[in-house]
Order: sequence, then structure tokens, then C-alpha cells
Amino acid sequence: KPRLLDDEEGGLLFFSSLPSSSSSGFGYLSIERLRQRLPVYKYRTAILYLVENHATTIVVGETGSGKTTQIPQYLKEAGWADGGRVIACTQPRRLAVQAVASRVAEEMGVKLGEEVGYTIRFEDVTKNGVTMIKFLTDGVLLREMMDDPLLTKYSVIMVDEAHERSISTDILMGLLRKIQRRRPGLRLIISSATIEAKSMASFFNSSKKRRETEGEVQGPRMEPAILSVEGRGFNVQIHYAEEPVSNYVQAAVSTVLSIHDQEPTGDILVFLTGQDDIDAVVQMLNEEVQNRGRNSSGLIILPLYSGLPRADQELVFTPTPRGKRKVVISTNVAETSLTLEGIVYVIDSGFSKQRFYNPISDIENLVVAPISKASARQRAGRAGRIRPGKCYRLYTEEYFVNEMATEGIPEIQRSNLVSCIIQLKALGIDNILGFNWPASPSPEAMVRALEVLYSLGVLDDDAKLTSPAGFQVAEIPLDPMISKMILSSSQLGCSEEIITIAAVLSIQKYNVALDTVNKYSAILQSIWVSGRGAQKELDEAKLRFAAAEGDHVTFLNVYKGFFQSGKSSQWCHKNFVNYHAMKKVVEIREQLRRIAQRIGIALKSCEGDMLAVRKAITAGFFANACHLEAHSHSGKYKTIRSSQEVYIHPSSVLFRAPKCTLAPLLTVVTFGVNPKWVIYHSLVSTDRQYMRNVISIDPSWLTEVAPHFYQHQHPASMLH
Ligand code: ADP
Ligand code: MG
Repeated sequence: KPRLLDDEEGGLLFFSSLPSSSSSGFGYLSIERLRQRLPVYKYRTAILYLVENHATTIVVGETGSGKTTQIPQYLKEAGWADGGRVIACTQPRRLAVQAVASRVAEEMGVKLGEEVGYTIRFEDVTKNGVTMIKFLTDGVLLREMMDDPLLTKYSVIMVDEAHERSISTDILMGLLRKIQRRRPGLRLIISSATIEAKSMASFFNSSKKRRETEGEVQGPRMEPAILSVEGRGFNVQIHYAEEPVSNYVQAAVSTVLSIHDQEPTGDILVFLTGQDDIDAVVQMLNEEVQNRGRNSSGLIILPLYSGLPRADQELVFTPTPRGKRKVVISTNVAETSLTLEGIVYVIDSGFSKQRFYNPISDIENLVVAPISKASARQRAGRAGRIRPGKCYRLYTEEYFVNEMATEGIPEIQRSNLVSCIIQLKALGIDNILGFNWPASPSPEAMVRALEVLYSLGVLDDDAKLTSPAGFQVAEIPLDPMISKMILSSSQLGCSEEIITIAAVLSIQKYNVALDTVNKYSAILQSIWVSGRGAQKELDEAKLRFAAAEGDHVTFLNVYKGFFQSGKSSQWCHKNFVNYHAMKKVVEIREQLRRIAQRIGIALKSCEGDMLAVRKAITAGFFANACHLEAHSHSGKYKTIRSSQEVYIHPSSVLFRAPKCTLAPLLTVVTFGVNPKWVIYHSLVSTDRQYMRNVISIDPSWLTEVAPHFYQHQHPASMLH
């Protein structure tokens, strides 16, 4: 029998039928009732009053209190979307953008993409003149500034999840502060689960001068208002591991099983780091369930990470059937961005994937790294949403108290700044050092980024964007090295091929797992089906497309095969190609072609001239050139730039230098020796530094495409 719960307002609820987005509707409570039950509802009038009267309002409130889904609706109801104006709400994560937009559309009873829409990179689900509430990633809003520097179509911009301090959120806040000076009518809401509200407020406080004249100026007060929404979380009991846990994947599995065996009903939320460990836990749990038979049949095991097909993502929001127990195994998207109802038990691995950048070696990696105390508290809080809950930390109390950092480091201080700086430059912010950063990036990282942009020909001697190349590169929403490659393909007559390659590269994400799951790390999303248990077949399938030139040309083979099959899913299945990824590639490719045409890049195919293709790649990625060490039988390469020792990653078609295979769509090629000169797309460091996506080149191209880089920084003699 389902348990009855007392709820604060005196009503009684079955927790198994709490609000959901299932198509069957919202259970027995009307949408209105549900909305009114959220903690933020009590502050509706206060929020609207503050937004009316202050340029910036900071809203702090516990996860699940209704900030994201409700505040934009309140604003719309109060008329902020009248007269064709739009209310924007930004999120750091794409997954959250989609989920929250569809929830709000559902609450408002409108079709997603009409009054309520969303935009993420390469996907725009809004309608001009119709959309009133628009959810978007902070990165997309930054891009919009290039066309509309004052963001004139927005009446209110809500920067949500500000505590996450993502790189784009930080840049956005710096820029919005500037825009506000020029457009006093614009209202900002900075909202987050936990935040240094005071320091945020002083960041948004206007200059003295402005305050003095304020009496005369019509409009909102410039000093920010702070509002704190009282949550109503229940008590959460914390359990620590008694001994340090050596394998959190294994530990997560056994903790789920023992909760299921010993604890009363209630769903379980497991925080892991990414697709690789999540898939591993899902698989191990499924095997356990099968082995145990009936005993564990009440478990519904669901993964949650971005890159999961939409339908699978939505499963986590459907209510748990009676007598069953849902186990959601998630990245930290469920930490504050998304609220799952029904969670009573949380298992916290103590890790998340974080970006780390080393400006000296110029390597940026997504690394599995320890979370902060602030994150650990947020995670635990997810267990106390509907009744008192329990949180199992897969680390010791001693570790939590003495070793965990109090707060995380803002992403801007651990990222490669190339994309960020090019965007600021494109927005006319020339004095990067003088920019008002919510947290200053390291000078080394800044210098490094300026160097890269200079060598790409994007910045001139005065550190201004070059015309037209710099502006064109800034227009393409990709890593500037990829954008430069696309730009060069125009002159080399191979833009169609290069755009395909760019599309494939842009769906890949790189991860480094710290030895727990797979020592070579896995690709979160790739054009290959991740072949757990079928590695041999996958390798054989890859060989069918492998090109002696390297991975980029191999992508072209796969794309061509996919196209010739009529984009068939059976073809993908047969060849271990990821059908969803390929569909995405086709989509992104179309978008990139449109952007290319807009900025004056001629679309042209080189009809199989792979020399042109490799040259274009070199034009973007010349800084990643490597040379095979003489007499090296172990496949050791050194980077030209910094003489680092690097190896070809096992996932590359060049890894095993396989013997004479037939590449079906190109010429017959002979493998067998490591190419002397290669260029890589990126490096990952696990047990060694590995090059991902490698292509062989002719060293003479380096001085040809980047004379400034290879003649000034590196004596020509190094090249021979
Ligand atoms: P906050 O932004 O303060 O963390 P939200 O506005 O995201 O809170 O969520 C408020 C409530 O809306 C949640 O407690 C949850 O009950 C409900 N909710 C949000 N998104 C969904 C969804 N996709 N499906 C079902 N319920 C949802
Ligand atoms: Mg939220």
C-alpha cells in the first residue's frame, strides 16, 4: 500500500502520484494548485515588485522551490512579455534547457516552440513574434549578442544556476552588467541554489556616479535586491563510508542493492560523473537484477546524462508505479538543475566531471575530480524533498571534513579561454584584462589564448579582430581552430568535406576517467556505438572505413557510407555506427553550411582530393603538429610546440597501423608504419598523453599555412 504523507499545507498526498509530466496529466491536483504549492509562490508578489523596482534582483532558493519553472511564468503574467518582448531564462546545461522548457510549456498548456520555446546550440525551438518565454543556454545568449549587442528583444533576463559559475555564466554576467548601463530598462534576475549573494550583489552594484544621479533618473534602482526563498526540505540523514572507497562504481551498485533490500519504498538517486560510469552501473545493476530473479524485480533503473535520447531523458520524470522503486543514475545535472520527485535516498560518489586546463601544456581535459562540500550538501539535499531521507556518501567523514574543498573553483579559472576571448573581442571588448570578471581568469591562460588567436590570424598585432578572417571565425559557433579550418577549406576548395568533419568533431566529447572504469577513457558521444563487450566487432567495423590518412578522412568514409545507405539505421547497426549521432551530424552539418554561406564561404567539394582536406585541417590545427621519434618502435611522438611525449590513442584508426585493409570508398591503402608527421585534434591524459583524432600530414604544410608560428616561434630547423 502506498504511504500517506502529511504535507505542510495540511493536504494529504500519495507520493507515488506526485506531479509529473506524464501525458496523463498532473494526477488529481490541478496545475494551478501544484504551482501554488511551490515555495516560490509565496514570494510571487515580492519578486514582481523587486523586478519592477530594481535593475537586478538576486533570488536564492533551494533546488525544487520553483525558481526556474515559476518565475518566468510570473513575469509573463505580469506583462513583461507584452508588446513582443521576450523573457529569457538561461541555464548552463543543454539538458536542463530542454527539460525545463517542456515542463513550462506543459504547465502553461501550450505547444513547445510557441509561447514557450528554447534554443541550444544547433537547435532553435522558438517562433519569432510568438515566443514569450525562452529558455536557452548561457552560451547561446552570448552568441545572440553578436547580432544584437544590447539584447533589445528581451525585457527580463534571468541568469539561472548562477552558483554553478560556468564559464559562459560568468562572461554573461560581466556583459549584462555593461548592457544594463546602456539599457536601464532591462531587468536582470540572478538566481541560484546557493550563492554568495552579497558578493554577487556588490558585483552588480553600479558605480558611485550613477548612484548620485539616481534621484533624477527615472527607472529602476541600480542597487540589486536580494530575495531568499525559504525552502521546505526535510531532514536528511548522512551516512559515510567507513573506509575509503577504491571503486565507486562497485560501491554505488552494492549501496543501491542494500538500500533496496533493507529500506522502505522511495526512489534512489545516484550521482556519478558521466556516461561511462553511469552505463557501467546501469549494466551491473541490470545483471544483478537478472541473477537475483524476483527479489529485485521492483527496480526501475534509469540513466540520466546529456547525449541520452530525449525520450530516455523524459523517463526519469515519469512517476514510479506503485510497489516499484526507481533508481536514477545521473551526472550532476540532477544536483541543482533538475528536480526529480520521489527521491528519498541519495548515493553520492563524491566525484563529478570537471574541466581542467593547463595553460603551460595547453591541455584541457574533462577530468573526474572530487566535488566540493557545497556540492556534497546540494546532493544530499535531493533526498529530503518529499520526506526525511538518507544520503550515502561513498567517502569517509574524515575526508569530507578535512579534505574536501569548501567551494568549487569557477570554471573560468580552469578553462581554455580561446573561445571566450574571441567572443569578447567580437563584442568590442578590447581590453580583456580590464574586463569586469566575476572571477578573474589566470594571466597565463589569457596570454596563451591570445597567442593561439594571434597565430590563427584571428587577432592582429594590436590584439584586435582581423577583418574579415577574425570576424568570420567569431561567427562560427565552434572552437576557433575548427572555425579556422572551415575558413581555409574555402580557399582549398573542400568546404563540403571539412564541414562534415567539423560536424563530427563537434558532437564528440572527451572524458578522462580516473582508472575506475576504463583506463583509456571513453568517448561520451561518438559516431561509433560504444562497444562494451563487443570491442572486437567494433574494431573490425572501424577497419572497414579506416583511411590511411587518419581519423578525419575515416569520418568522411563513414559519412559517405551513411549517406549512400539512404541514412539507414540498419546500415548503422550493421557497421557499429551510432545512428543518433549520425543524424545529429547531418543536422549540424546543415546548420554549419548555412552559417558558412552567410559569412561568405563558398560550398565546394574537392571530389576525393584528400590532400586539400588534410591541408585545411593543418591550417586550423598546425599548433598540434607532432613528429614520430626516430627509431621509435613504441609509437612515441613529440609535439613540435613543446616537445611533449605523446601517443596515438587506441581509438584512432592509426593506433595499430593495421596492415593493408580495403577502405571501401577510397583508394586502397597500405598501413603498417606509423606516419612520421601527424596533427591531432586534442590530447587526453590518462596513463600517458594520448592524441585523439589524428591525421598524417606533410611537414612542409606547416610553414606554408602558419609561417608566423613555425618561423618565429620555432626555428625552421626543428621541422627537419
Ligand atoms: P528550482 O528552479 O527552484 O530548482 P524548478 O522550478 O525547477 O525549481 O522546479 C519546481 C518544481 O517543478 C519541482 O519541484 C518539480 O516538482 C516540478 N518539475 C520541474 N520540472 C519538472 C519536470 N520536467 N517534470 C515534472 N516535474 C517537474
Ligand atoms: Mg532551477
